[in-house]
Amino acid sequence: MWFIIDVETVLITVIQRLTTFNANNGDKLSKQPLIGYLCPLFFKGYMLTDRQIAEIRTYLSAKRKITLTTHMNPDGDAIGSVIAMMHYLRKKGHEVKAVIPNNFPRFYSWLPGSDELIVYEKQVAVAKAALNEAEMIFLLDFNAFNRVGQMSELLKSAPGKKFLIDHHISPEEGFDYYFSTTETSSTGELLYDFMEIMGDLALLDRDIAAALYVSIMTDTGSFSFASNHPKTYYVAAALIEQGIDAERIHRLVYDTFSENRLRLLGYAISERLLVWPHLHTAVIYLTKEDLKKFNYQVGDTEGIVNYPLSMAGVNLSVLITEKERKIKLSLRSKGEFSVNDLARSYFNGGGHRNAAGGYVYDPVELTIEKVKSVLEKYKEELNYKLSY
Ligand code: 5GP
Ligand code: MN
Repeated sequence: MWFIIDVETVLITVIQRLTTFNANNGDKLSKQPLIGYLCPLFFKGYMLTDRQIAEIRTYLSAKRKITLTTHMNPDGDAIGSVIAMMHYLRKKGHEVKAVIPNNFPRFYSWLPGSDELIVYEKQVAVAKAALNEAEMIFLLDFNAFNRVGQMSELLKSAPGKKFLIDHHISPEEGFDYYFSTTETSSTGELLYDFMEIMGDLALLDRDIAAALYVSIMTDTGSFSFASNHPKTYYVAAALIEQGIDAERIHRLVYDTFSENRLRLLGYAISERLLVWPHLHTAVIYLTKEDLKKFNYQVGDTEGIVNYPLSMAGVNLSVLITEKERKIKLSLRSKGEFSVNDLARSYFNGGGHRNAAGGYVYDPVELTIEKVKSVLEKYKEELNYKLSY
């Protein structure tokens, strides 16, 4: 182990020395240097070099126009990250706007600042202006342009420097800065690291802490998955030290079901659950009519995909949701089986090893058949028991 770390350190240092950088006058920011692209060869992610950190510090020491954005169908980590970053950068004196591709679930609307988020789908012109006028754009909790849906061309062509902060596998090329690793619980945790790197932890306050806590809590399923890094708990402790109430935040996010949402969950499990024991898989499918019947609101299907995994022997859960023009798949696994690989290979998507998503354009019944036939190929890989 020590040997490996030593080799990494030596290689990184050598490459860092060999790489040339653009001159930095505090206003012009250099492109991602070679070292950034080489990092994944040695680490599970892209790190900021010391040079970049110094550069960014200098850049952010003057007032900047900054716009933040995140992925389509934003979840708790997406919204928590954007809001935390908005408060943090404002405290540093910047002019900050935040644009999200489409609306967010109402159970995040208690977060201070959530009413300021510009929803691209509803305010195209305002969103366009915010993206085009930004000197720097932070892209939070996603790593490929197609994850912002209709907004992707606009975001791509926006002239500001693009700074990616994310924790998904294999970030796309084309960003100016990368702070990206899978070795963390969430983008929210990475933002805490970013504040630390910038020497700004003194700026942490209750509002920022609440937003970051939402990120970590939601992306770890309340510390039940993606939560094996000791650092995650140090960060959570530091957030609680800011005076947030972790129990209340949990209730504000999870105990806000409408009657319809709870009944939809019950219906999904009692009427729409398929169990394929030989594949160690369970599937829930929801049609447009199902959603209509329960007066579907954004966020109402969040979490449904986790329930089948609570069955012993089920290692993979798939939620198939019929949207207006496509079918959305949500995939969750426990243990070794990588739903990220599955989503990337067959369902135009990706994510993490144990939580991923994707899309197909077939009808619901055909999608179910396709999922089943794909999984038949993975019968052996899906047949395992969890051990401690
Ligand atoms: P969910 O199933 O909750 O929508 O998403 C689970 C995970 O998969 C999240 O980390 C999310 O970022 C990722 N994910 C969901 N949908 C897609 C998709 O269409 N493409 C990619 N690359 N990732 C997705
Ligand atoms: Mn996330």
